[in-house]
Amino acid sequence: MAKQLALVVGARPNFMKAAPLMAAVQAKGRLQARLIHTGQHFDANMSNVFFRQLQMAEPDLYLDIHGGSVNEQVARVILELDKEFTARRPDMVVVFGDVNSTLAASIAANKLNIPLAHVEAGLRSWDREMPEEHNRIVADVLADYLFTPSPDADENLAAAGIPAERVHRVGNIMVDCLLRFKPAAEQLAAWTAHGLTPRQYGVVTLHRPSNVDDQLALRGIVEALVEIQRSVQLVFPVHPRTRARMAEWGLLDALQGSGVMLLEPVGYLEFISLMTQSRFILTDSGGIQEESTVLGIPCLTARENTERPITIQVGGNRLVGNRPEGIIAGYRALQGGAVAPQQPELWDGHTAERIEAILYEKLS
Ligand code: UDP
Repeated sequence: MAKQLALVVGARPNFMKAAPLMAAVQAKGRLQARLIHTGQHFDANMSNVFFRQLQMAEPDLYLDIHGGSVNEQVARVILELDKEFTARRPDMVVVFGDVNSTLAASIAANKLNIPLAHVEAGLRSWDREMPEEHNRIVADVLADYLFTPSPDADENLAAAGIPAERVHRVGNIMVDCLLRFKPAAEQLAAWTAHGLTPRQYGVVTLHRPSNVDDQLALRGIVEALVEIQRSVQLVFPVHPRTRARMAEWGLLDALQGSGVMLLEPVGYLEFISLMTQSRFILTDSGGIQEESTVLGIPCLTARENTERPITIQVGGNRLVGNRPEGIIAGYRALQGGAVAPQQPELWDGHTAERIEAILYEKLS
């Protein structure tokens, strides 16, 4: 009988990492995968749209766990996964990235002695105030198979004392998704629907707690956006967390009044489509730093650090911090137009196939 994988996803950045692996497993037909969605992100535009657009089947199991404190969420996911993994013991649990569901699933698998694979292992911002950093560290320490996207991740794992035989550099699985759906995204021409002119607009996303849960920081960023909007149109699909804070602190009107185009979070195809024709991206997202690198679009990262240093090394990404002066200076320093960063090794669209092959070999 084919060996069973349980893939656990919970939040937006997981879906574009799980979709290529589900597709690779199905294409090869020698492993079976069950997709479990914890419900951490549950809104239509933060979850459902991705299943449809990424041509991924509905989750086999939906736990519907959201709301409450982080500890409550993590604890409930562990309890529900404990029941699930006990009832239908998988041969391997696979987790992605650094979200709270990744942490919870890693613990649940570990306590039941089920082998654990971590996709996107080894990334470190070295910023212990970043909630995702703890999640990455725990998943890496507990994982039996660590799939890394870049040499820096291998080095971080070696420095953490993780045995080299557990570490497999396979490349960046998000890039599989990006390369597969880029033609459809370009065809969609989402910029037209929003009345935007190619290369005459910048795309903004923000959701890191250090930027949006701190009133002073968020005010400063909004100030920078209003200033940049004076010289170039900004389009900003607003994460629900960010919208809630901006509403609470009365910042939505200032932004809207300045002409910044505020949208609800958009689907994957729309977002990639908007990115492909943008002049630059301003973001605090991890994944978008990588996608902008592959698309050759200059990226200003509104953070002091990044767990994706390779996106800076190869060209297109720059850390500008979250103070208005830094963000505005970063914008002014842009040369305009696309950059042609060198592509990191193995960011070639075949990462999921490499992971499938290793999992198959290890489980045989
Ligand atoms: N994304 C999207 N719609 C949006 C904003 C982002 O589909 O309105 C996609 C983006 O292309 C990338 C992923 O969401 O694939 C990144 O997720 P997020 O920024 O939430 O998480 P992070 O990468 O920071 O963990």
